[in-house]
Amino acid sequence: MQNYQVVVIGAGPGGYMAAIRAAQLGLKTAIIERAELGGVCLNWGCLPTKTLLRSTEILRLACEGAPYGLVLDSAPRFDLATAVKRSRDVAKQLNRGVHGLMKKNKVTVMTGHARLLGKGKVAVVDAGAEQEVQAKHIILATGARARAIPGFEPDNETIWTAREAMVPKALPKSITVIGAGAIGVEFASFYSTAGSKVTILEAADRILPLEDAEISDMLAEHLRKQGIEIYTGAYVENQKTTTCGVKVNFTKSGSPQFVESEKVILAVGITGNVESLGLENTKIQIDRTHITVNEHCETDEPNIYAIGDIAGPPWLAHKASHEGVMVAELIAGIEDVHILDPKSVPSCTYCYPQVASVGITEAQALEQGFEVNIGRFPFIGNGKALSLGESDGMVKTVIDKKTGELLGAHMIGPEVTEMISTYALARTLETTEVELMRTVFPHPTLSEALHESVLAAYGRALHI
Ligand code: NAD
Repeated sequence: MQNYQVVVIGAGPGGYMAAIRAAQLGLKTAIIERAELGGVCLNWGCLPTKTLLRSTEILRLACEGAPYGLVLDSAPRFDLATAVKRSRDVAKQLNRGVHGLMKKNKVTVMTGHARLLGKGKVAVVDAGAEQEVQAKHIILATGARARAIPGFEPDNETIWTAREAMVPKALPKSITVIGAGAIGVEFASFYSTAGSKVTILEAADRILPLEDAEISDMLAEHLRKQGIEIYTGAYVENQKTTTCGVKVNFTKSGSPQFVESEKVILAVGITGNVESLGLENTKIQIDRTHITVNEHCETDEPNIYAIGDIAGPPWLAHKASHEGVMVAELIAGIEDVHILDPKSVPSCTYCYPQVASVGITEAQALEQGFEVNIGRFPFIGNGKALSLGESDGMVKTVIDKKTGELLGAHMIGPEVTEMISTYALARTLETTEVELMRTVFPHPTLSEALHESVLAAYGRALHI
């Protein structure tokens, strides 16, 4: 039986980064994966969807190109098959990249389904063959999968999850997206720009309900302008196959309604992959579909850690990676590890226009008893946004009146998913409004809006 100091189960962005960091720190490390290195994120999630969204962004720019001097002899057409192929090619390239990283760092890669046997033993089952490895420390990083709702079981035909929606064989004429979290609005944006008629059904009272309410409202207005129909407070009841696809019955404010479309995309959250892991052979506790951990990602079983989606929210790849690196460092005996602060984890949604945020919303700040200064700076006041022709949107900052701490930042508009890192850094450095105001932002850049928003919170904005 092979002996390792660290065995990582699951090779998504949490697991493979934990393995790299453990190996960097001189620990003999193995990683076990039953599907593809890179996990859902690289193969069937974050990256292939961003690649698809890049295709529709180029289509949109071409369609809107005339005022910029772009002359096309005919209207741009969208070749879905080419866009899907490019998305799959990028996923394959990333997967090969992770294989390369494992080799470079001398991490042993084992293929198969891993099951805990107790006392550090792990069984790896691949195509009926079973082998065992012994581990001093085990990191569980098995991720999550799409949650289904009763009566809406994904069938790969009319009812899709994100996975099927990523590899359509043809462009559906119409799509109903159930759930308006990040996955729902990203696919709504993609399919709508590609040419499908899109309807969103969201149970909460607004789309992207975890974002600041003002940002959700602005996004809804934009999506409606693009032709997307949105029903919030919509409770889906059941669905029925029809000649043209599927009829979804739902209630809104108590009254029954329906929407008919060729396809349905389910995007109602995720459920942790906790099954068949042998957790019963340990003291590990489960809270609904997630493993209970402390701030060091330690489970109730000594020397077993859980990171990423399986360890609970926020369900984001970068949270998983941060935890993976932290746990590897803990195992290696590094004392000064950086514990994750959920309030400093940025969140990004790559619909058009993009949405990004970090920290708490204005409503949460008020609920928590803060007195706040609110800064709002619209991109219409930013020269670079005007030159790009992307002047819709705004940057909102929520600042603690007493201490000047940046409690939260909420953005909608061009490249905000890139710019949010500046505010994430500001939160990590515990920066105050004074330092943000004194920072020199380059001109002309979109990021000047970050500066102006903080200035606006104190009535000092220069371009509004
Ligand atoms: P989510 O939890 O973010 O959103 C699900 C939405 O579905 C919620 O708004 C919820 O109110 C709604 N909903 C739930 N049940 C419903 C029902 N029966 N009818 C109508 N609406 C219903 O989940 P998601 O969008 O599926 O994404 C899963 C996870 O992956 C999330 O944590 C998300 O943040 C993460 N993710 C992140 C990104 C990104 O960062 N760009 C992209 C994709 C996914």
